[in-house]
Formats: sequence, structure tokens, C-alpha cells
Amino acid sequence: MIKAITGTKDILPSDIAKWHYLEKLLRETFHLYNYKEIRTPIFEETALFARGIGEETDIVGKEMYTFKDRSETSLTLKPEMTAPVVRSYIEHSLGAQQPLTKLYYISSMFRQERPQAGRLRQFNQFGAEAIGSKSPLLDAEMIQLAYGILKSLGLKNLTVKINSLGTPETRETYKKLLKKFLEDKKNKLSEDSRRRFDTNILRIFDSKIESDQNIIKDAPKLIEHLDEESKSDFEIVKNQLSKTGIPFQVDPTLVRGLDYYTKLTFEIDSGSVGAQTALCGGGRYDLLIETLGGKPTPATGFAAGVERILLACENEKSFIIPEQSIDVYLIRVDSALETVVADFSSDLRSQNISCDYDYLNRSVKAQMREANKMNAKYVLFIGGDEYKNGMMNLKNMSNGSEEKIPYSNINQLIERIKTNPIS
Ligand code: AMP
Repeated sequence: MIKAITGTKDILPSDIAKWHYLEKLLRETFHLYNYKEIRTPIFEETALFARGIGEETDIVGKEMYTFKDRSETSLTLKPEMTAPVVRSYIEHSLGAQQPLTKLYYISSMFRQERPQAGRLRQFNQFGAEAIGSKSPLLDAEMIQLAYGILKSLGLKNLTVKINSLGTPETRETYKKLLKKFLEDKKNKLSEDSRRRFDTNILRIFDSKIESDQNIIKDAPKLIEHLDEESKSDFEIVKNQLSKTGIPFQVDPTLVRGLDYYTKLTFEIDSGSVGAQTALCGGGRYDLLIETLGGKPTPATGFAAGVERILLACENEKSFIIPEQSIDVYLIRVDSALETVVADFSSDLRSQNISCDYDYLNRSVKAQMREANKMNAKYVLFIGGDEYKNGMMNLKNMSNGSEEKIPYSNINQLIERIKTNPIS
């Protein structure tokens, strides 16, 4: 038997209601903040991600699904959305139409990671990118937006961590300082961190290894060596978060090891999802548009993982989805009336009344069981002596009351179902 690929998941009908619930909330919230949806292709030229995420990152180095097509072009299934969104922004000159372009997406991403709870190979992200302004208020808006969505889902166990990476110049000066601090401790670092010492020293802060953490915890902090503009922008973000009542903590170890990331970086963690605690990550990337061939344009954004968020919601029982139901289940009492039942169902559907009936020639008892399984609000019995007398029996499933309706008067049936909705 062929099974789904490890690290991928079917979203089954029994699970879909919470996805719809989340997607509706997302679209409403993004609209509230005036973000417009963008959809980009599933695959792109590999070079886009190599340049747009960085060769030295785990994503590009180890995790991409890269393949050659028949014309030997190297393609990659998108592992994240910022690079594709920026590519599209440049290609279609979106900035010329709208100097501040606010975009959102909900889409599948692909990374060849070791699957575990909350870590998949195909997963879904939603996120936002605002391209065209260097205002720190826009950074605060990103956090407010992401945090607001998580709160609207009823999540409680959240931590907002923020940090500033300063400008690339500040970072270069700081990297020298860090190098000096780690120089004589280099031999005690893990192999990965020793490599990062030479390739991308900031990423040593990402190490989860305890001995590395013990060494790095006493290192000078980038946040203490910020330039004036970054410092003042960071203050504005913090003030704005305080004003909007968003609790946050400054985490100087929250780094992104790529040069086009600038100033604010943030992450929202949940204590309800096990080892993979990050629900959402984001920050400012003022130099990426240039890196990908556009005009220098400041930008900021975030990405959040849908599966991980839904896992947190499930663990916290943060929202409850009402069971799905249909308006009417039609029960065929005499098998000879099959086409009559089919005609009634067409009439009801044409009036926006959801309904279904039995196509398997089952007994009345089995049809009744089916009606219960579907949470039908009404059951309509068609057949028997009643039918011979020109009537049908409509049963209200919430209170058990029954009413006879002439089958020649479909309008009465429709009106009854529409004017007496059962919540
Ligand atoms: P990133 O693009 O790595 O900053 O990730 C942003 C968010 O996407 C994370 O905070 C997670 O919620 C989610 N995410 C990242 N990688 C995975 C994965 N392999 N499986 C499931 N969710 C993921």
C-alpha cells in the first residue's frame, strides 16, 4: 500500500473545521490591518532561495527540496515565503503602485527536516510582509498583528521575545567584539559552533548545546552596542507594545545570522507545544530587496506555523468548533420514491437549504442513523400512507416535534425550514 510521505499530513474532513475557522479569522484580521493577499508559485528558481535566505542557513544548506526539471533548471519547492514575495514585488513593480505594500499569505512550505511533533516536511504558514517603510511603528504593528491572531484563537501560554540587530555596520563592529571574546574559548565550542565562528559567528547564539550556551551567556550583547538610530527605533517599538498591552521580553540571543536582517527581530513562543516552541518569527529586513535585485527598500514581516498553532490550540482547548450539521436529511420511506426524493433535494438546495439523502438503498432505520450522524436539523419523511394522502412529515430534530406539510406546497416546506432555524 502506498502511504503519505513521512513528514506530510492529510487534513481529513474531521479536522477541516478548525482550519476553516483559522483561515476565516486570518482573512478578517489581515483585512482589519489593510493587508492584501498574495499567492506565489509552489516552486521557484533555486537561486532565489540561495540568495534570499542565505547559503549558510540550515534551510538552504540542508533542508530544501531541490530538483532539476527536464531543461536542467534547478528548482526548489518554497521553504518560506519572504523571498518569493519580494521576488514578486520586484518583478511586478508593486512598489510603484503602492509605496507601502502590505501583503499577506497562507500557503504550504517544504523543508526536508527530521519530522517530529510540530515539525513537518510539508507544513503551512501564514504571514505578512510590509515593504516600503522603515517606521518602527510598522514593526510594532507586525507584532500586534501576529500576537492579536494568537490571542483571538484563545491562546494564553504565550511569550513575546524581541531583540534588535542594529544596522549591518553596527553588527560588523560587534562581530569583532564577539570574536575577540570567543577567541580563546573556541576549542571548547561544539563542532557546529566552531564552524560558525568562521562562517557566521552570530549564529552561535542559536546553539542548543548546553556547553555552548554556558560560554556564550557571558559574551557581550549586540543590544548593548547599538547605533543611535537602532536604539531609538527599538525604544519606539517597546513603547508601542507597552501602550497596546502586549507583554514582551528582550532576548539578546534572538539573532538572525544574515546581513540583510536589520534592527527588530521577534519571536512568539508557546509553552503548550512541547519541544518546538516557536509559533511565529519575524523582523525587519531592510537590505533584502536590494540583495534580490530591487531598489533599496526597507521592509518588515513575520511568518507563523499553522500546524504548530493548531496543536497549541488543541492542547489548551483554546476554542471549540461547533459540530458541523446539515439543514435537512430526506428519508425515503418507499424505495419507489427515489426520484421524488432526488427532486426534493434539488429544490431545497436551489433555495440554499443544505440537505442530503440515501443513495445506498438503506432501510428507514439506517437512514435515520445517518441523519443523526450528520446532525441534521430536520428530517423529512417521504412515503407511506401520508404520502398517499398528499403529505410529508417534517421532524424537528432538536425538540422532536413533527409537522405535516403537503408535498404540492414546496414553498411551505422551505419557509418552515428557513423561518424556524434551529441554532
Ligand atoms: P521560520 O520560517 O523558520 O522563521 O518559521 C516560522 C514558523 O513556521 C515557526 O515559528 C513555526 O511555527 C513554523 N515552522 C517552521 N518550520 C516548520 C516545520 N518544519 N514544521 C512545522 N512548522 C514549522
